[in-house]
Amino acid sequence: MRKKIVAGNWKMNNDAAQAEALIDAIINKKPDTSTKVVIAPPFVSLQAAVAQTRGTNIIVAAQNMHQAENGAYTGEISVNMLKGINVNTVILGHSERRAYFGETNALLAEKVNTALNHNLTVIFCFGEELADRQTGSHFEVVERQLREGLFHISESDWSNIVLAYEPVWAIGTGETASPEQAQEMHEFIRTLLRNNIGSKIAEDTSILYGGSVKPDNASEIFSKPDVDGGLIGGASLKADDFVGIIKGMA
Ligand code: PEP
Repeated sequence: MRKKIVAGNWKMNNDAAQAEALIDAIINKKPDTSTKVVIAPPFVSLQAAVAQTRGTNIIVAAQNMHQAENGAYTGEISVNMLKGINVNTVILGHSERRAYFGETNALLAEKVNTALNHNLTVIFCFGEELADRQTGSHFEVVERQLREGLFHISESDWSNIVLAYEPVWAIGTGETASPEQAQEMHEFIRTLLRNNIGSKIAEDTSILYGGSVKPDNASEIFSKPDVDGGLIGGASLKADDFVGIIKGMA
């Protein structure tokens, strides 16, 4: 059965002390336990975050990882480094990684393979740019991102995949896809899964929406039948907002 998930991507925000304070504030607000809650702090705060969230329902994720097992890749973080500190979830394919760090569908397919080979859960992000939507090619773009980055994986690995549809034009812009636009794309994605991977996997895979989700628009977006939760950027940096969005899932 697919899970309800709200994940916070902190990006390059919060130093160690700020991260600790934010996690404390989230825990104190006791987010709803029927929703799986994920936070993705910067690398340097992951180990402390894992310790701080032990015994809660909060899962700690990394925002990225390298595709190689190890080696001469200055500044990079490997899958085993994450596993070694009990981080078992990773966000891959965020539009900022694609746009600013040149991550292609082919590279993401390699990262996905490495993560799955080590049994990590992957939150796989994808979504069209504004120009794609304006020219009506958004379905085609999304389909290509999924086919080239993800559809090669084995059936058994799908239980470790969470999809996050994030239209780039809605990320950090304050412009949200309407609940109808989100549902239309999520339904398209689920149908793609059904036709290419199988009905059970299509039914069981959580598809999150990301793009300017806030406490006041979350419940309407989350009420759509194919929207299983959200990937939250800006609003995940304030405990009140993040927990307010989690409440929108209930
Ligand atoms: C994101 O970066 O994944 C995101 C959804 O950001 P925001 O919520 O700030 O639009």
